[in-house]
Amino acid sequence: MPACRRPASPPGLRPSRLLPQSHTLCRRCGKRSFHIQKHVCASCAYGATSKMRRFAQHYKAMRRRTQGTGRMSFMKSMPRRAKNGFREGTMAPKKSSA
Ligand SMILES: [Zn+2]
Repeated sequence: MPACRRPASPPGLRPSRLLPQSHTLCRRCGKRSFHIQKHVCASCAYGATSKMRRFAQHYKAMRRRTQGTGRMSFMKSMPRRAKNGFREGTMAPKKSSA
């Protein structure tokens, strides 16, 4: 039996007392890759650059985080707004009862 055994912790949980966490959740990609001291995400390079970190040889990783994998909260309204010429601030004319 090893001499420096620590008390049993739940499996899969990091013993935060012995091994402090260096990464926390990234607010841009959501992965736990944001380095706390460096303030840079190892997965998406948030904090280092405004562009997403991506490499062509990692085509599977690009597939997982490209456009269309999220909510598309801005892009999904583009076709409807483009159809009407991106008008803003107008009101629909009142429908007259026939
Ligand atoms: Zn990130």
